[in-house]
Amino acid sequence: MVISTTNQDFDQDLHSTFASRYVRTSLPRFKMPDQSIPKDAAYQIISDELMLDGNPRLNLASFVTTWMEPECDKLIMSSINKNYVDMDEYPVTTELQNRCVNMIAHLFHAPVGDDDTAVGVGTVGSSEAIMLAGLAFKRKWQAKRKSLGKTYDKPNIVTGSNVQVCWEKFARYFEVDLKEVKLKEGYYVMDPVKAVEMVDENTICVAAILGSTMTGEFEDVKLLNDLLMEKNKETGWDTPIHVDAASGGFVAPFLYPDLKWDFRLPLVKSINVSGHKYGLVYAGVGWVVWRTKEDLPDELVFHINYLGSDQPTFTLNFSKGSSQIIAQYYQFIRLGFEGYKDIMMNCSENTRSLKEGLQKTGRFDIISKDIGVPLLAFSLKDSSRYTVFDISESLRRFGWIVPAYTMPPDAQHISVLRVVIREDFSRSLADRLIADIVKVVNELEAAQPTKTAISVHNGKVSEDSVREMQKGITKYWRSVVHGKKTSSVC
Ligand SMILES: *Cc1c(COP(=O)(O)O)cnc(C)c1O
Repeated sequence: MVISTTNQDFDQDLHSTFASRYVRTSLPRFKMPDQSIPKDAAYQIISDELMLDGNPRLNLASFVTTWMEPECDKLIMSSINKNYVDMDEYPVTTELQNRCVNMIAHLFHAPVGDDDTAVGVGTVGSSEAIMLAGLAFKRKWQAKRKSLGKTYDKPNIVTGSNVQVCWEKFARYFEVDLKEVKLKEGYYVMDPVKAVEMVDENTICVAAILGSTMTGEFEDVKLLNDLLMEKNKETGWDTPIHVDAASGGFVAPFLYPDLKWDFRLPLVKSINVSGHKYGLVYAGVGWVVWRTKEDLPDELVFHINYLGSDQPTFTLNFSKGSSQIIAQYYQFIRLGFEGYKDIMMNCSENTRSLKEGLQKTGRFDIISKDIGVPLLAFSLKDSSRYTVFDISESLRRFGWIVPAYTMPPDAQHISVLRVVIREDFSRSLADRLIADIVKVVNELEAAQPTKTAISVHNGKVSEDSVREMQKGITKYWRSVVHGKKTSSVC
C-alpha cells in the first residue's frame, strides 16, 4: 500500500478525504502494512469495499434479524464496550440475562414457580446452545452407564437428516455418533416412528427440530414423546428429548399456543432457541434452557462468586459482548407477548400472500407447510429447461438473495428455493419479489440459447449444445451445493 505523499500536506478539513486520495494501490491482504493511515481514510476504504456485500435486508436466505428499532440500536452502541463475562463490574447486565432466561423458560412452560429462577444460559447462538445441551446429555448418560457398570464409550444421538450443521459439529467435536433418520420425497422432517426405532441403550437423546431449516416445518415432538415413553417403559431406559427450536421457539408460543412441543411434554429436558432469529435481535445471541436443575450435571457448571451471590456459568466462550443480551431484554419488555404475537402474525400473513402469488404463476410446488416457521420453500414443477439454481442466480440481478439447494438424504433429487419472511420483509417487498420472480421465469422460458455468448467459442453452435452447456453449469452448481448440506441457508 502506498500513501500518496502529496496529500500529507493537504488540509484534511478542506479537502475531500476520498479513498483514492490516500491509497493508490490495492489494499494489503496478507501482511499487516508497515505504516499507519489516517482514520478517515481507513474508514472510507473499508466502507467502500463493503458496498459490494449484499444488502442484509434483501437477504432472504437468513432467519437472522436485520432490523431493530433505533432506540435499541442506541442501547446496543452504548454497551458495545462491555465484556459480558465481567459480571462483577456489570451486575445489571448479568441480571438482565437471568431475567431473559426466566422469561424464556416460562414461555416454554418449564416447571418453575412464578418467582423461581429457571436454569439456562445466554449463548452466542443456537450452535453454542446445542453444544452445551448435547454435553449435558452426554455427561448424564455416561454417569448413569458408569453407575450401572456398563460401557460408556459409544454414545449416539438420533436426529433427522434435515438437522442443521451444528448438530454434525457437536457430534464430531464431542465424539458422539450421529444417527440420522433419512427423509424421503414428500416427507422432509424426522419421522418419529423411525427415530424411536433407532434409539438404543447408547442413545444420549433424540433431537427434534421445531422449524426445520430446510422447510420450516415443525417436527411432531408430541408423537415422539409418546412413542419414546412407551419404549422407555419397555426397555427401562430413560432416553430424553432435546428440542432444537432455533427458528421456531419464538414463533410457536405466539402463533400456535396449543401446540405441545415444549416442557409440557415430560421427556423434553432441554430446548435451545436463537435470540437472533425470531427473538428479533441482531446476530450474536442464543439461549438454552433446561427443564430442571437435575437436567444439567453440576460438574459442567462453573461457579463465580460475585457480590455475595453465586453466579453459575456454563458456556464455551469466556469473553463476549453484552449488547445482544441487553437488546434481547429490550425486545421482551418493549414488545411483550402482544408485540411478538403481532409481528409473528404479520410474518405469517406475508408468507401467505407470497405463497398465493407463487401459486398463481402455476410453475411452483410449495414444499413448506402452512403451520411452521414463516418461510416459503418451493420447487419447480418442471425443471427440464431451467432450474431453481437458475432462478436464484437471476434474482441476484435485482438484489434479491434467495438460496436454492438440494434436500438432505434421501431426498437429494429435490431442489428448492427458500424465502424466509422476517419482520422487516414487508408486504410491498413481497409483491416486488413475486413480480421479479415472474419476470425471471418468463425470461428463462423465453430464453433462446444465448448465441452471442457461444459464438465467442465458434461462430455457429446448435441449440442442443447450448442446452448442454447450461446443463453443465447447473450440474456444477449442484456439485458445489451438494456436500455443503445447508449451503447458504442459516
Ligand atoms: C439456525 C439454526 C441453528 C443454528 O443456530 P445459530 O443461532 O445460527 O447458531 C440450529 N438449528 C436450527 C434448526 C436452525 O435453524
